Amino acid sequence: MHYVSTRAKTDSSFASSSFSQILLEGLAPDGGLYLPADYPQVTGAELDAWRGLSYADLAFEILKKFADDIPSADLMALTRKTYTPDVYRNVRAGDDARRITPLRVLEDKDGRKLILQELSNGPTLAFKDMAMQLLGNLFEYELARQNAELNIFGATSGDTGSAAEYAMRGKKGIRVFMLSPHKKMSAFQTAQMFSLQDPNIFNIAVEGVFDDCQDMVKAVSNDLEFKARQKIGTVNSINWARVVAQVVYYFRGYLSATESNEQKVSFTVPSGNFGNICAGHIARMMGLPIDKLVAATNENDVLDEFFLTGVYRVRKSAETYHTSSPSMDISKASNFERFIYDLLGRDGARTSALFRKVETDGYFDLSGKPGSDGDEFRKVSEFGFESGKSTHQDRLDTIRLVKKEYGILIDTHTADGVKVAREHMRPGVPMIVLETALAAKFNETIREAMGTDAERPPGFENIEDLPQRYSVMQAEVEQMKAFIARNTGL
Ligand SMILES: *Cc1c(COP(=O)(O)O)cnc(C)c1O
Repeated sequence: MHYVSTRAKTDSSFASSSFSQILLEGLAPDGGLYLPADYPQVTGAELDAWRGLSYADLAFEILKKFADDIPSADLMALTRKTYTPDVYRNVRAGDDARRITPLRVLEDKDGRKLILQELSNGPTLAFKDMAMQLLGNLFEYELARQNAELNIFGATSGDTGSAAEYAMRGKKGIRVFMLSPHKKMSAFQTAQMFSLQDPNIFNIAVEGVFDDCQDMVKAVSNDLEFKARQKIGTVNSINWARVVAQVVYYFRGYLSATESNEQKVSFTVPSGNFGNICAGHIARMMGLPIDKLVAATNENDVLDEFFLTGVYRVRKSAETYHTSSPSMDISKASNFERFIYDLLGRDGARTSALFRKVETDGYFDLSGKPGSDGDEFRKVSEFGFESGKSTHQDRLDTIRLVKKEYGILIDTHTADGVKVAREHMRPGVPMIVLETALAAKFNETIREAMGTDAERPPGFENIEDLPQRYSVMQAEVEQMKAFIARNTGL
Protein backbone atom coordinates (compact mmCIF):
# COMPACT_ATOMS: atom_id res chain seq x y z
CA MET A 1 0.00 0.00 0.00
CA HIS A 2 1.45 3.30 -1.10
CA TYR A 3 0.30 6.79 -0.28
CA VAL A 4 0.14 9.81 -2.54
CA SER A 5 -0.44 13.49 -1.91
CA THR A 6 -3.65 15.16 -3.10
CA ARG A 7 -1.43 17.82 -4.66
CA ALA A 8 1.02 15.48 -6.40
CA LYS A 9 1.69 16.55 -9.96
CA THR A 10 0.96 13.71 -12.36
CA ASP A 11 3.61 14.90 -14.82
CA SER A 12 6.51 14.65 -12.38
CA SER A 13 7.67 11.61 -10.49
CA PHE A 14 6.86 11.79 -6.81
CA ALA A 15 8.07 9.60 -4.01
CA SER A 16 5.19 7.58 -2.64
CA SER A 17 5.25 6.61 1.01
CA SER A 18 4.22 3.73 3.23
CA PHE A 19 1.83 3.87 6.20
CA SER A 20 4.63 3.95 8.80
CA GLN A 21 6.41 6.75 6.96
CA ILE A 22 3.38 9.04 7.03
CA LEU A 23 2.07 7.97 10.46
CA LEU A 24 3.85 10.72 12.38
CA GLU A 25 3.33 13.37 9.70
CA GLY A 26 0.64 15.94 9.00
CA LEU A 27 0.64 17.55 5.58
CA ALA A 28 2.61 16.07 2.70
CA PRO A 29 5.71 18.13 1.78
CA ASP A 30 3.86 19.69 -1.19
CA GLY A 31 1.11 20.96 1.13
CA GLY A 32 -1.41 18.26 0.14
CA LEU A 33 -2.99 15.50 2.21
CA TYR A 34 -2.07 11.84 2.04
CA LEU A 35 -4.40 9.25 0.53
CA PRO A 36 -3.80 5.64 -0.53
CA ALA A 37 -2.78 5.32 -4.18
CA ASP A 38 -5.79 2.97 -4.56
CA TYR A 39 -8.58 2.18 -2.15
CA PRO A 40 -8.41 -1.47 -1.07
CA GLN A 41 -11.65 -3.28 -1.94
CA VAL A 42 -13.71 -5.51 0.33
CA THR A 43 -15.50 -8.58 -0.97
CA GLY A 44 -18.89 -9.93 0.03
CA ALA A 45 -17.15 -12.95 1.53
CA GLU A 46 -15.07 -10.66 3.74
CA LEU A 47 -18.12 -8.74 4.91
CA ASP A 48 -19.84 -12.03 5.77
CA ALA A 49 -16.82 -13.21 7.72
CA TRP A 50 -16.52 -9.86 9.54
CA ARG A 51 -20.10 -9.71 10.75
CA GLY A 52 -19.32 -11.70 13.88
CA LEU A 53 -15.94 -10.18 14.74
CA SER A 54 -15.19 -8.14 17.84
CA TYR A 55 -14.56 -4.44 17.22
CA ALA A 56 -10.82 -4.92 17.83
CA ASP A 57 -10.53 -7.74 15.32
CA LEU A 58 -12.62 -5.89 12.75
CA ALA A 59 -10.30 -2.91 13.21
CA PHE A 60 -7.35 -5.22 12.61
CA GLU A 61 -8.84 -6.64 9.37
CA ILE A 62 -9.51 -3.16 7.97
CA LEU A 63 -6.30 -1.50 9.15
CA LYS A 64 -4.06 -4.22 7.79
CA LYS A 65 -5.24 -3.33 4.30
CA PHE A 66 -3.85 0.17 4.84
CA ALA A 67 -0.91 -0.48 7.19
CA ASP A 68 0.61 -3.46 5.44
CA ASP A 69 4.11 -2.52 6.58
CA ILE A 70 3.29 -3.21 10.24
CA PRO A 71 3.68 -6.92 11.03
CA SER A 72 0.22 -8.51 11.45
CA ALA A 73 0.84 -9.83 14.95
CA ASP A 74 1.92 -6.36 16.10
CA LEU A 75 -1.06 -4.66 14.51
CA MET A 76 -3.47 -7.11 16.08
CA ALA A 77 -1.88 -6.56 19.49
CA LEU A 78 -2.34 -2.80 19.01
CA THR A 79 -6.04 -2.99 18.04
CA ARG A 80 -6.75 -5.46 20.87
CA LYS A 81 -5.04 -3.18 23.36
CA THR A 82 -7.03 -0.18 22.12
CA TYR A 83 -10.59 -1.35 21.60
CA THR A 84 -11.49 -2.82 24.98
CA PRO A 85 -14.61 -2.36 27.13
CA ASP A 86 -12.25 -0.96 29.72
CA VAL A 87 -11.22 2.00 27.53
CA TYR A 88 -14.73 2.52 26.08
CA ARG A 89 -16.58 2.07 29.30
CA ASN A 90 -19.16 4.86 29.34
CA VAL A 91 -21.78 2.80 27.55
CA ARG A 92 -25.38 3.63 28.48
CA ALA A 93 -27.13 1.24 30.80
CA GLY A 94 -28.65 -1.62 28.84
CA ASP A 95 -26.20 -1.41 25.93
CA ASP A 96 -23.46 -3.93 25.32
CA ALA A 97 -20.04 -2.42 26.12
CA ARG A 98 -18.26 -5.25 24.33
CA ARG A 99 -19.55 -3.90 21.04
CA ILE A 100 -17.58 -0.65 21.66
CA THR A 101 -19.90 1.30 19.31
CA PRO A 102 -23.35 -0.14 20.06
CA LEU A 103 -26.37 0.79 17.96
CA ARG A 104 -29.55 2.15 19.48
CA VAL A 105 -32.66 1.95 17.36
CA LEU A 106 -34.65 5.14 17.94
CA GLU A 107 -37.45 4.54 15.48
CA ASP A 108 -38.57 1.55 13.42
CA LYS A 109 -41.92 1.94 11.77
CA ASP A 110 -43.40 1.91 8.25
CA GLY A 111 -40.00 1.08 6.78
CA ARG A 112 -38.41 4.09 8.45
CA LYS A 113 -35.54 3.16 10.67
CA LEU A 114 -33.52 5.72 12.61
CA ILE A 115 -30.51 4.46 14.55
CA LEU A 116 -27.92 6.09 16.79
CA GLN A 117 -24.39 4.67 16.72
CA GLU A 118 -22.64 5.37 20.03
CA LEU A 119 -19.11 6.58 19.37
CA SER A 120 -18.59 8.57 22.54
CA ASN A 121 -18.00 5.95 25.18
CA GLY A 122 -14.25 6.56 25.44
CA PRO A 123 -12.37 8.46 28.15
CA THR A 124 -13.26 12.00 26.98
CA LEU A 125 -16.89 11.33 26.03
CA ALA A 126 -16.50 12.32 22.37
CA PHE A 127 -15.97 10.31 19.18
CA LYS A 128 -12.42 11.64 18.80
CA ASP A 129 -11.35 8.94 21.27
CA MET A 130 -12.20 6.29 18.65
CA ALA A 131 -9.21 7.28 16.53
CA MET A 132 -7.02 9.05 19.05
CA GLN A 133 -6.71 6.07 21.41
CA LEU A 134 -5.39 3.97 18.55
CA LEU A 135 -3.08 6.78 17.48
CA GLY A 136 -1.53 6.86 20.96
CA ASN A 137 -0.69 3.17 20.77
CA LEU A 138 0.50 3.38 17.14
CA PHE A 139 2.75 6.35 17.94
CA GLU A 140 4.28 4.62 20.95
CA TYR A 141 4.90 1.49 18.86
CA GLU A 142 6.44 3.35 15.92
CA LEU A 143 8.61 5.62 18.07
CA ALA A 144 9.99 2.60 19.91
CA ARG A 145 10.70 0.92 16.56
CA GLN A 146 12.59 4.01 15.34
CA ASN A 147 14.15 4.62 18.75
CA ALA A 148 12.78 8.17 18.48
CA GLU A 149 10.77 10.60 20.54
CA LEU A 150 8.02 13.08 19.71
CA ASN A 151 6.77 16.25 21.36
CA ILE A 152 3.19 16.97 20.37
CA PHE A 153 2.41 20.66 20.35
CA GLY A 154 -1.12 21.88 19.74
CA ALA A 155 -3.91 24.26 20.63
CA THR A 156 -7.40 23.31 21.67
CA SER A 157 -10.71 24.88 22.56
CA GLY A 158 -11.99 21.60 23.95
CA ASP A 159 -12.49 18.15 22.42
CA THR A 160 -9.33 17.53 20.39
CA GLY A 161 -6.88 18.51 23.10
CA SER A 162 -8.42 16.35 25.75
CA ALA A 163 -8.75 13.36 23.41
CA ALA A 164 -5.05 13.75 22.51
CA GLU A 165 -3.98 13.98 26.15
CA TYR A 166 -5.97 10.93 27.20
CA ALA A 167 -4.52 9.00 24.27
CA MET A 168 -0.90 10.01 24.92
CA ARG A 169 -0.78 10.03 28.72
CA GLY A 170 1.91 7.75 30.06
CA LYS A 171 3.12 6.79 26.58
CA LYS A 172 6.85 6.23 26.24
CA GLY A 173 8.74 8.63 23.96
CA ILE A 174 5.87 11.12 23.80
CA ARG A 175 5.19 14.44 25.51
CA VAL A 176 2.15 16.64 24.92
CA PHE A 177 2.22 20.44 25.18
CA MET A 178 -1.36 21.64 24.84
CA LEU A 179 -2.34 25.30 24.75
CA SER A 180 -5.82 26.40 25.71
CA PRO A 181 -7.31 29.86 26.29
CA HIS A 182 -7.15 30.60 30.03
CA LYS A 183 -10.57 30.43 31.70
CA LYS A 184 -12.42 30.14 28.36
CA MET A 185 -13.26 26.44 28.34
CA SER A 186 -16.19 24.97 30.26
CA ALA A 187 -15.47 23.88 33.83
CA PHE A 188 -15.97 20.27 32.77
CA GLN A 189 -13.56 20.46 29.82
CA THR A 190 -10.97 22.31 31.91
CA ALA A 191 -11.19 19.75 34.68
CA GLN A 192 -10.94 16.88 32.23
CA MET A 193 -7.64 18.15 30.87
CA PHE A 194 -6.07 19.83 33.87
CA SER A 195 -6.71 16.99 36.29
CA LEU A 196 -4.25 14.78 34.41
CA GLN A 197 -1.17 14.34 36.57
CA ASP A 198 0.96 12.38 34.10
CA PRO A 199 4.48 13.84 33.86
CA ASN A 200 4.41 13.69 30.03
CA ILE A 201 1.35 15.95 29.77
CA PHE A 202 1.81 19.74 29.89
CA ASN A 203 -1.31 21.88 30.01
CA ILE A 204 -0.59 25.51 29.20
CA ALA A 205 -3.33 28.04 29.86
CA VAL A 206 -2.65 31.05 27.65
CA GLU A 207 -3.76 34.55 28.66
CA GLY A 208 -5.81 35.15 25.52
CA VAL A 209 -8.38 33.58 23.20
CA PHE A 210 -8.20 30.43 21.10
CA ASP A 211 -6.80 32.32 18.09
CA ASP A 212 -3.85 33.48 20.23
CA CYS A 213 -3.11 29.85 21.07
CA GLN A 214 -3.37 28.88 17.42
CA ASP A 215 -1.03 31.74 16.43
CA MET A 216 1.55 30.55 18.95
CA VAL A 217 1.46 27.04 17.50
CA LYS A 218 1.97 28.48 14.02
CA ALA A 219 4.83 30.72 15.16
CA VAL A 220 6.65 27.86 16.86
CA SER A 221 6.05 25.51 13.91
CA ASN A 222 7.41 28.08 11.48
CA ASP A 223 10.74 28.07 13.33
CA LEU A 224 12.02 25.03 11.48
CA GLU A 225 15.27 24.78 13.38
CA PHE A 226 13.47 24.79 16.74
CA LYS A 227 10.85 22.37 15.44
CA ALA A 228 13.48 19.87 14.30
CA ARG A 229 15.64 20.14 17.42
CA GLN A 230 12.65 19.79 19.75
CA LYS A 231 11.10 17.00 17.63
CA ILE A 232 7.78 18.84 17.44
CA GLY A 233 4.79 17.12 15.86
CA THR A 234 0.99 17.43 15.83
CA VAL A 235 -2.07 15.21 16.01
CA ASN A 236 -4.53 17.32 14.05
CA SER A 237 -7.47 15.97 12.14
CA ILE A 238 -5.67 15.63 8.81
CA ASN A 239 -3.44 12.86 10.20
CA TRP A 240 -4.09 9.88 7.95
CA ALA A 241 -4.07 7.29 10.75
CA ARG A 242 -6.86 9.18 12.50
CA VAL A 243 -8.98 9.12 9.36
CA VAL A 244 -8.41 5.45 8.68
CA ALA A 245 -9.18 4.45 12.29
CA GLN A 246 -12.56 6.11 11.80
CA VAL A 247 -13.30 3.95 8.74
CA VAL A 248 -13.73 0.98 11.08
CA TYR A 249 -16.92 2.14 12.80
CA TYR A 250 -18.71 2.64 9.48
CA PHE A 251 -18.13 -1.06 8.84
CA ARG A 252 -19.18 -1.93 12.40
CA GLY A 253 -22.34 0.16 12.06
CA TYR A 254 -23.23 -1.34 8.70
CA LEU A 255 -22.59 -4.93 9.80
CA SER A 256 -24.59 -4.49 13.00
CA ALA A 257 -27.55 -2.85 11.25
CA THR A 258 -27.89 -5.42 8.43
CA GLU A 259 -28.18 -9.15 7.98
CA SER A 260 -27.01 -9.45 4.40
CA ASN A 261 -24.77 -7.50 2.05
CA GLU A 262 -27.72 -6.94 -0.27
CA GLN A 263 -28.92 -4.28 2.18
CA LYS A 264 -27.79 -0.68 2.21
CA VAL A 265 -27.65 1.86 5.01
CA SER A 266 -27.12 5.63 5.09
CA PHE A 267 -25.13 7.64 7.60
CA THR A 268 -25.65 11.18 8.87
CA VAL A 269 -22.52 12.75 10.30
CA PRO A 270 -22.27 15.93 12.40
CA SER A 271 -19.44 17.61 10.50
CA GLY A 272 -16.82 20.28 11.04
CA ASN A 273 -13.40 19.51 9.61
CA PHE A 274 -14.85 16.77 7.38
CA GLY A 275 -12.63 14.14 9.04
CA ASN A 276 -15.38 11.91 10.30
CA ILE A 277 -17.46 11.87 7.13
CA CYS A 278 -14.30 11.55 5.01
CA ALA A 279 -13.81 8.17 6.69
CA GLY A 280 -17.35 7.27 5.57
CA HIS A 281 -16.44 8.26 2.02
CA ILE A 282 -13.41 5.95 2.18
CA ALA A 283 -15.53 3.07 3.53
CA ARG A 284 -17.94 3.60 0.62
CA MET A 285 -15.06 3.71 -1.91
CA MET A 286 -13.86 0.39 -0.45
CA GLY A 287 -17.19 -1.14 -1.42
CA LEU A 288 -19.17 -0.95 1.82
CA PRO A 289 -22.85 -0.78 0.71
CA ILE A 290 -23.53 2.77 1.91
CA ASP A 291 -26.40 4.55 0.19
CA LYS A 292 -26.10 8.18 1.32
CA LEU A 293 -23.53 10.07 3.37
CA VAL A 294 -25.29 13.09 4.81
CA ALA A 295 -23.15 15.92 6.17
CA ALA A 296 -24.90 17.83 8.95
CA THR A 297 -23.60 21.30 9.77
CA ASN A 298 -24.60 23.90 12.32
CA GLU A 299 -24.89 27.63 11.53
CA ASN A 300 -21.35 27.40 10.14
CA ASP A 301 -22.62 25.92 6.89
CA VAL A 302 -19.63 25.94 4.53
CA LEU A 303 -20.12 22.26 3.72
CA ASP A 304 -23.89 22.47 3.32
CA GLU A 305 -23.38 25.33 0.90
CA PHE A 306 -21.00 23.25 -1.20
CA PHE A 307 -23.30 20.23 -1.36
CA LEU A 308 -26.20 22.48 -2.39
CA THR A 309 -24.41 24.72 -4.90
CA GLY A 310 -20.96 23.38 -5.84
CA VAL A 311 -19.33 26.50 -4.41
CA TYR A 312 -16.81 25.99 -1.59
CA ARG A 313 -16.48 29.35 0.15
CA VAL A 314 -14.49 29.42 3.38
CA ARG A 315 -15.28 31.97 6.07
CA LYS A 316 -12.99 34.33 7.96
CA SER A 317 -12.70 33.93 11.74
CA ALA A 318 -14.89 37.01 12.19
CA GLU A 319 -17.65 35.31 10.14
CA THR A 320 -17.43 32.07 12.12
CA TYR A 321 -20.24 31.85 14.65
CA HIS A 322 -19.77 30.57 18.18
CA THR A 323 -22.60 28.09 18.49
CA SER A 324 -23.95 25.59 20.99
CA SER A 325 -22.34 22.77 18.96
CA PRO A 326 -18.87 24.34 19.26
CA SER A 327 -16.83 21.43 17.92
CA MET A 328 -18.44 22.08 14.54
CA ASP A 329 -17.63 25.80 14.50
CA ILE A 330 -15.30 25.39 11.56
CA SER A 331 -14.99 27.78 8.65
CA LYS A 332 -12.49 25.79 6.60
CA ALA A 333 -12.87 22.01 6.51
CA SER A 334 -9.32 20.71 6.58
CA ASN A 335 -10.10 17.19 5.27
CA PHE A 336 -12.36 18.35 2.45
CA GLU A 337 -9.43 18.31 0.02
CA ARG A 338 -9.37 14.51 0.24
CA PHE A 339 -12.88 14.28 -1.18
CA ILE A 340 -12.30 16.96 -3.82
CA TYR A 341 -9.25 15.01 -5.07
CA ASP A 342 -11.48 11.96 -5.65
CA LEU A 343 -14.27 14.10 -7.12
CA LEU A 344 -11.80 15.51 -9.66
CA GLY A 345 -10.78 12.01 -10.75
CA ARG A 346 -7.61 12.21 -8.65
CA ASP A 347 -6.13 15.13 -10.54
CA GLY A 348 -3.47 16.48 -8.14
CA ALA A 349 -2.60 19.48 -10.30
CA ARG A 350 -6.21 20.71 -10.35
CA THR A 351 -6.73 19.95 -6.66
CA SER A 352 -3.65 21.97 -5.89
CA ALA A 353 -4.84 24.89 -8.04
CA LEU A 354 -8.28 24.91 -6.41
CA PHE A 355 -6.96 24.96 -2.85
CA ARG A 356 -4.41 27.64 -3.74
CA LYS A 357 -7.35 29.63 -5.06
CA VAL A 358 -9.07 29.17 -1.68
CA GLU A 359 -6.00 30.76 -0.05
CA THR A 360 -6.01 33.76 -2.37
CA ASP A 361 -9.69 34.25 -3.32
CA GLY A 362 -11.46 32.49 -0.45
CA TYR A 363 -13.44 30.07 -2.64
CA PHE A 364 -13.66 27.76 -5.63
CA ASP A 365 -16.67 26.99 -7.77
CA LEU A 366 -17.39 23.62 -9.37
CA SER A 367 -20.99 24.45 -10.32
CA GLY A 368 -20.27 24.41 -14.05
CA LYS A 369 -21.74 27.90 -14.48
CA PRO A 370 -19.95 30.34 -16.79
CA GLY A 371 -16.68 31.45 -15.19
CA SER A 372 -16.61 28.58 -12.69
CA ASP A 373 -13.58 26.37 -12.02
CA GLY A 374 -15.19 23.18 -13.31
CA ASP A 375 -18.46 21.26 -13.50
CA GLU A 376 -17.75 18.32 -11.18
CA PHE A 377 -20.61 19.32 -8.91
CA ARG A 378 -22.82 17.20 -11.19
CA LYS A 379 -20.83 14.13 -10.06
CA VAL A 380 -21.25 14.68 -6.31
CA SER A 381 -24.36 12.49 -6.09
CA GLU A 382 -22.42 9.52 -7.51
CA PHE A 383 -20.42 9.65 -4.28
CA GLY A 384 -23.61 9.51 -2.20
CA PHE A 385 -23.17 12.91 -0.55
CA GLU A 386 -26.08 14.99 0.68
CA SER A 387 -26.23 17.65 3.36
CA GLY A 388 -28.34 19.70 5.72
CA LYS A 389 -28.09 22.40 8.33
CA SER A 390 -29.27 22.85 11.90
CA THR A 391 -29.58 25.93 14.12
CA HIS A 392 -29.59 26.55 17.85
CA GLN A 393 -33.38 26.35 17.95
CA ASP A 394 -33.32 23.08 15.96
CA ARG A 395 -30.82 21.71 18.46
CA LEU A 396 -33.02 22.54 21.45
CA ASP A 397 -36.12 21.14 19.71
CA THR A 398 -34.33 17.94 18.69
CA ILE A 399 -32.85 17.33 22.14
CA ARG A 400 -36.35 17.64 23.60
CA LEU A 401 -37.95 15.51 20.91
CA VAL A 402 -35.45 12.65 21.18
CA LYS A 403 -35.78 12.64 24.96
CA LYS A 404 -39.58 12.68 24.80
CA GLU A 405 -40.04 10.17 21.96
CA TYR A 406 -37.18 7.78 22.66
CA GLY A 407 -36.13 8.46 26.24
CA ILE A 408 -32.53 9.29 25.36
CA LEU A 409 -30.64 12.49 26.10
CA ILE A 410 -28.37 13.43 23.19
CA ASP A 411 -25.71 16.11 22.99
CA THR A 412 -25.90 19.23 20.83
CA HIS A 413 -23.72 17.93 17.95
CA THR A 414 -25.62 14.67 17.74
CA ALA A 415 -28.82 16.74 17.77
CA ASP A 416 -27.63 18.52 14.63
CA GLY A 417 -27.15 15.06 13.11
CA VAL A 418 -30.59 13.78 14.13
CA LYS A 419 -32.29 16.95 12.88
CA VAL A 420 -30.73 16.60 9.44
CA ALA A 421 -31.07 12.79 9.34
CA ARG A 422 -34.84 12.98 9.76
CA GLU A 423 -35.01 15.11 6.60
CA HIS A 424 -33.00 12.60 4.58
CA MET A 425 -34.54 9.24 5.48
CA ARG A 426 -35.76 6.91 2.75
CA PRO A 427 -38.10 3.95 3.14
CA GLY A 428 -36.23 0.65 3.40
CA VAL A 429 -32.81 2.20 4.07
CA PRO A 430 -31.83 2.40 7.74
CA MET A 431 -30.38 5.79 8.67
CA ILE A 432 -27.51 5.69 11.19
CA VAL A 433 -26.65 8.94 12.99
CA LEU A 434 -23.16 9.02 14.46
CA GLU A 435 -23.25 10.14 18.09
CA THR A 436 -20.21 12.40 18.37
CA ALA A 437 -20.36 13.34 22.06
CA LEU A 438 -22.28 12.64 25.26
CA ALA A 439 -24.70 15.21 26.61
CA ALA A 440 -22.75 15.71 29.87
CA LYS A 441 -20.02 17.46 27.89
CA PHE A 442 -22.31 20.26 26.76
CA ASN A 443 -24.46 20.63 29.82
CA GLU A 444 -25.14 24.37 29.46
CA THR A 445 -27.32 23.76 26.40
CA ILE A 446 -28.91 20.66 27.92
CA ARG A 447 -30.03 22.81 30.80
CA GLU A 448 -31.44 25.34 28.35
CA ALA A 449 -33.35 22.62 26.48
CA MET A 450 -34.50 20.46 29.36
CA GLY A 451 -34.31 22.63 32.47
CA THR A 452 -32.26 19.90 34.15
CA ASP A 453 -28.64 18.75 34.08
CA ALA A 454 -27.33 15.91 31.94
CA GLU A 455 -26.42 12.85 33.93
CA ARG A 456 -22.69 12.23 34.10
CA PRO A 457 -21.23 8.78 33.50
CA PRO A 458 -19.75 7.10 36.61
CA GLY A 459 -16.36 8.52 37.54
CA PHE A 460 -17.10 12.01 36.24
CA GLU A 461 -19.38 13.16 39.07
CA ASN A 462 -16.88 15.36 40.90
CA ILE A 463 -14.29 15.92 38.24
CA GLU A 464 -14.18 19.69 38.92
CA ASP A 465 -12.95 18.98 42.47
CA LEU A 466 -9.86 17.01 41.44
CA PRO A 467 -6.46 18.70 41.85
CA GLN A 468 -5.37 20.47 38.67
CA ARG A 469 -1.93 20.67 37.11
CA TYR A 470 -1.27 23.44 34.55
CA SER A 471 0.89 26.48 33.81
CA VAL A 472 -0.45 29.93 32.98
CA MET A 473 1.54 31.83 30.36
CA GLN A 474 1.38 35.02 28.31
CA ALA A 475 0.84 34.70 24.55
CA GLU A 476 4.57 35.18 24.08
CA VAL A 477 6.44 32.97 21.64
CA GLU A 478 9.95 33.08 23.10
CA GLN A 479 8.65 32.31 26.57
CA MET A 480 6.76 29.34 25.10
CA LYS A 481 9.84 28.00 23.33
CA ALA A 482 11.86 28.28 26.53
CA PHE A 483 9.17 26.36 28.40
CA ILE A 484 9.20 23.55 25.86
CA ALA A 485 12.99 23.32 25.76
CA ARG A 486 13.22 23.27 29.55
CA ASN A 487 10.77 20.37 29.76
CA THR A 488 12.09 18.26 26.89
CA GLY A 489 15.75 18.74 27.87
CA LEU A 490 16.57 18.76 24.13
C1 LIG B 1 -14.72 17.07 16.23
C2 LIG B 1 -16.18 16.97 16.45
C3 LIG B 1 -17.11 17.04 15.39
C4 LIG B 1 -16.69 17.29 13.95
O1 LIG B 1 -15.96 16.23 13.39
P1 LIG B 1 -15.08 16.46 12.06
O2 LIG B 1 -14.29 15.23 11.89
O3 LIG B 1 -14.24 17.67 12.35
O4 LIG B 1 -16.04 16.71 10.93
C5 LIG B 1 -18.46 16.87 15.68
N1 LIG B 1 -18.88 16.68 16.95
C6 LIG B 1 -18.02 16.61 17.99
C7 LIG B 1 -18.57 16.41 19.37
C8 LIG B 1 -16.65 16.75 17.79
O5 LIG B 1 -15.80 16.69 18.83
